[in-house]
Amino acid sequence: MEKTLVILKPSCVQRALMGEVISRFERKGLRLAGMKMVQLTDAILSEHYAHLKDRPFFQRVKDSMRTCPVIVQCWEGKNATKVVRHIIGVTNGREAAAGTIRGDFSVSSQENIVHASDSPESAKTELKRFFTDNEIFEYKLSTLTNLYSDDEI
Ligand code: ADP
Repeated sequence: MEKTLVILKPSCVQRALMGEVISRFERKGLRLAGMKMVQLTDAILSEHYAHLKDRPFFQRVKDSMRTCPVIVQCWEGKNATKVVRHIIGVTNGREAAAGTIRGDFSVSSQENIVHASDSPESAKTELKRFFTDNEIFEYKLSTLTNLYSDDEI
């Protein structure tokens, strides 16, 4: 099944929303395949946010992501990247739909609680950036038959 990267940003850690955010992915039925706390560096953030390098807020976003440790996570499920993006909502918290993580907990374009991969291809690249192979666990959820029909898995 598909795996995708989520980062609980400093805005999530500092506002004590980590449990709330993790709970939303768990309750959806995604499987947590990896999780650790890390202090990000400017170098890894320059790589991670390379698509924003010409934007005026590039350095500010990177600096914000280094203000405290973050939680990096690997979540797995059918179409996990799309499912997670639906759960988190659009980038700007003021525009994100109520019921999404950003819609419920953010009023900002920058301080928007979570990062999530935007395609299955970028999920693969991003998971390699933040995890080694032995930090990703392949256990089976005992509830799998309650989460999916046979033809979905
Ligand atoms: P997303 O995180 O939704 O995939 P992007 O990849 O476009 O969005 O942007 C990466 C991160 O950069 C955002 O999550 C947010 O923290 C920050 N960001 C994006 N757009 C802005 C903006 N206009 N002003 C400030 N920060 C921004």
